[in-house]
Amino acid sequence: MFDHLTNPVLVETRAAIRRYIDEELLPLEKELGLGSEDAWPREVLRGVWRRSSELGLYAACLPAELGGKGLNIAEQCALKADLAASGAVLAPHVLGDLGGPPRVGNMLKYATPAQLARYFQPVIRGEKSTCFALTEPHSGSDAQSIATTAVADGDELVVNGRKHYISGAPFADFAIVMCVTDAAASPPAITAVLIDLDLPGVKVSTDYVPMSGQHIDADIEFANVRVPRANIFGGEGNGFKLGMSRINVNRLLHCPSMLGLATKVYEASLEYAGTRRQFGGPIARFQAIQHMLADMAAALWACESMIAQTALLADSGADLRMKAAACKLFVSERCFEVADKAVQIHGNVGVTRGHPVEQTFRKLRMFRIFTGTSEIQRNTIARAILEPMR
Ligand SMILES: Cc1cc2nc3c(=O)[nH]c(=O)nc-3n(C[C@H](O)[C@H](O)[C@H](O)COP(=O)(O)OP(=O)(O)OC[C@H]3O[C@@H](n4cnc5c(N)ncnc54)[C@H](O)[C@@H]3O)c2cc1C
Repeated sequence: MFDHLTNPVLVETRAAIRRYIDEELLPLEKELGLGSEDAWPREVLRGVWRRSSELGLYAACLPAELGGKGLNIAEQCALKADLAASGAVLAPHVLGDLGGPPRVGNMLKYATPAQLARYFQPVIRGEKSTCFALTEPHSGSDAQSIATTAVADGDELVVNGRKHYISGAPFADFAIVMCVTDAAASPPAITAVLIDLDLPGVKVSTDYVPMSGQHIDADIEFANVRVPRANIFGGEGNGFKLGMSRINVNRLLHCPSMLGLATKVYEASLEYAGTRRQFGGPIARFQAIQHMLADMAAALWACESMIAQTALLADSGADLRMKAAACKLFVSERCFEVADKAVQIHGNVGVTRGHPVEQTFRKLRMFRIFTGTSEIQRNTIARAILEPMR
């Protein structure tokens, strides 16, 4: 995937990540018996962040002045696809996808010097983890309808509310929380607030497991939580803008992860079709199986091409709204179809709980929900293409 990218820094980083996974991460997972659906111990995750930092990988996606390698978005896509295709359970932690530098990278410009020192630099160094908390039990796609409030009281804010399905919350040290600071305004003023998750009144809990079986999402409840007003992030009333400013690139950056996962099950299907024998020979000789493999290969190529082209646009600074939505919509739906075909080719093996193909099928299904459902992506695309007719 993405073999057309030849920047020597990227080539070396891809090789270093492969070495780290093969020589350290996979053996560690084996030693600890860690599976995709286990609750990963915090100290294990901290160890991965620390080691990845020591190897100069953890902050690879940040600009050089922040300790990164200055890779552009297209190059970041290559790293993310490699990680997803690696088969390592802890792969998302190598670059800190769930709570590390990629979560904060494009928002650092909004941080005050004190916020940088206390919150964001420790995230970049792999010492702290964060999460982005917008969704609530009664506010999903309609993100402006959130009910969590932050009410000023002298030099402090008093926060009340509940955030729902927040990725990385189970192991985060602090959250970037979207709160209503002026409910009377139209639309209500929404402000981002940095909240330490060990403060009195904060409870991180989960009474659900997503269909991927992973333990990486949780709810965060705030009951009269007091934080300094200095923890307002990006200026009062700017929270929604700040959230939206990262959404297009985030939508794009989910795509290589899906591509990597789908590529892995496609390769497993090729292998299985060549070795599984029925009616006196390998199933790969049946045209029905060949057509499924052909459709999978074509879909993966279309996804890779679309991601590469959208990343090129992102790196040129073009308006990404429509194209990032189209990319996320297309890639999430095609990659899920690839996984569906992989299950079919694997027969009963493919529907057996815990088989990598079955697990990937469940993981890929979820991408059509978060960072905007497929319907929300279609709304964005339709708005953009119909705009000139209004
Ligand atoms: C694994 C996972 C991780 C997540 N991580 C985070 C996170 O880190 N931080 C965070 O803040 N949130 C997170 N979320 C929440 C996620 O962003 C929401 O689930 C998503 O925005 C959809 O909201 P909802 O699930 O409440 O669905 P709803 O908005 O209730 O939608 C239900 C259905 O109605 C459709 N629908 C809704 N509005 C429209 C419309 N206008 N037009 C057409 N159809 C519509 C939807 O497409 C969907 O089919 C995560 C969710 C999951 C599953």
